[in-house]
Amino acid sequence: MPESKCPRWFRDEIGWLGHARHTGMDRKQWMADYVGPYVKHVVESGKYPMFNRTIHEGRLSHMSPTRVSSTGSTTYSTASPPPSPTRRRGEPHSRRTANGLAPVDQARSATVITTDSSAPCARCAAATVTVHGALPWCPQCEWNLGRFEPARRVPEFGVRVVDRWTHQVAYRLARRQFADLSQRTLDRPMLSAARLVTVTASLLLLAAVVLLAAFGVWLVLYDFPRVTILFGIIALALAFTLRPRLGRLDPTIDVLSRQTAPTLFAVVDQVAAATGAPAPHIIAVDQSVSAYTTSVGIRRRRVLCLGLPLWAVLPPPQRIALLGHELGHFVNGDVRRGLLTQPAFTMLGTTADLIRPVNTATTGVGEILAALVQAIAARVLYLLHLLLVWTGQRDAQRAEYLADELAATAAGSTAVADLMDTLLATDVIDMVIRREARAGRGLNDWHTAVAQARTTSTAQAPLLRQLSIRDEVSLFASHPPTGLRTRMLTARPHREPAVTLTTSQTERIDAELTNQYQRLQRNLGLE
Ligand SMILES: [Zn+2]
Ligand SMILES: [Zn+2]
Repeated sequence: MPESKCPRWFRDEIGWLGHARHTGMDRKQWMADYVGPYVKHVVESGKYPMFNRTIHEGRLSHMSPTRVSSTGSTTYSTASPPPSPTRRRGEPHSRRTANGLAPVDQARSATVITTDSSAPCARCAAATVTVHGALPWCPQCEWNLGRFEPARRVPEFGVRVVDRWTHQVAYRLARRQFADLSQRTLDRPMLSAARLVTVTASLLLLAAVVLLAAFGVWLVLYDFPRVTILFGIIALALAFTLRPRLGRLDPTIDVLSRQTAPTLFAVVDQVAAATGAPAPHIIAVDQSVSAYTTSVGIRRRRVLCLGLPLWAVLPPPQRIALLGHELGHFVNGDVRRGLLTQPAFTMLGTTADLIRPVNTATTGVGEILAALVQAIAARVLYLLHLLLVWTGQRDAQRAEYLADELAATAAGSTAVADLMDTLLATDVIDMVIRREARAGRGLNDWHTAVAQARTTSTAQAPLLRQLSIRDEVSLFASHPPTGLRTRMLTARPHREPAVTLTTSQTERIDAELTNQYQRLQRNLGLE
């Protein structure tokens, strides 16, 4: 687009960078103060069809379904790193990348709610809406919400038709599961189909590894010493590689002790009691905008890890909600966590990797044939692996709804729903904290800055929740879309908080984490 024909809004967009540099103003704030009213006026006048199109179709790389989930530990993704989403030439966002703004900033840059007057809902004729440049949908009947928008997602298989199909399947499954679960009480099923499938698969796989090991031993001992010893050793090595893994404590997390963080430990105990979950053996912090629980080792020691940037900015009720959800994972019957189900999720994938042909020059017919057989076998195993992962993730999403319900018994329904809205804004939190840390500002300033940045998005919350259903559904997703989680909470009987955090408790916990906060601030400031 030639500069002279550049509409004002476009020049304003460019002007943002200089303006931000001078004032240190947050992009969202700038949008709200300057661009928001102007855009609203233009859209309402209906005189700029081209402009409308740009807003609706200005696609942004945003919220990957395979990103590390907001409050989950397990995120599966396909093997190869995804190519970056393609953008059409001349779209404003590519320019921002060239200017070096963080992807986070890109994701939030078109924070504009608009009504598409030209195309009302095809089903109920209500006015359609959009936010963040997504294709419009109907806020009433949610027509068009399930649209596949490749530019807003990380490709899962890298083939457009396949990605579109898996998105459709995931969208339908998520909605059906929501409709099904919202009608009945969420409880921990004794034996779900998913559990039956994964336990059976795990047992078969374990038996195969044991047989392989036994066969190795037999080959080694057979008519010792003979050439068969070589095959025996190979079989044993293979069995060793395929052995079930029990998980280890992440060496990068910062493990806390009851002596140095007594208040935090006491609060976790209180939340555990309220949710009926056992307390974790290990409480740790890391530097991610998330939180997770897991069990490690043969003794299945329970670990709770809190992402400090997220924990730092959560209001007290939402801290309880976060603890409630995470501890809920210890009792929600999550199929991914059992000792007996774990082999199903890892062993086939490992085997597929092992037998995949390596890219060396093959010359003879025999070598080419062998590579072909290896490639086919690896694909078949990989497909089986995917099927098991998808089965597990489906059940895991049920378990996530239950964890939210357990969180509500401790923190109350309102706090958990508020936490969901916070989780929809983790990219904003990440951006704001980094900016504050780089400017040498600490914890107290983070609170203020994040609260300020978030006030502008409050009005958009209903749309962001709806859009999360389109953006977050994936066969690989460990959690249901955040918008559906909020909806599930409001569909259930309202719960009052059982555990509350007093101001002095909050301050004591933050004081206990002073060293960790300072380290985080230093690390972020150095980036
Ligand atoms: Zn979870
Ligand atoms: Zn409609």
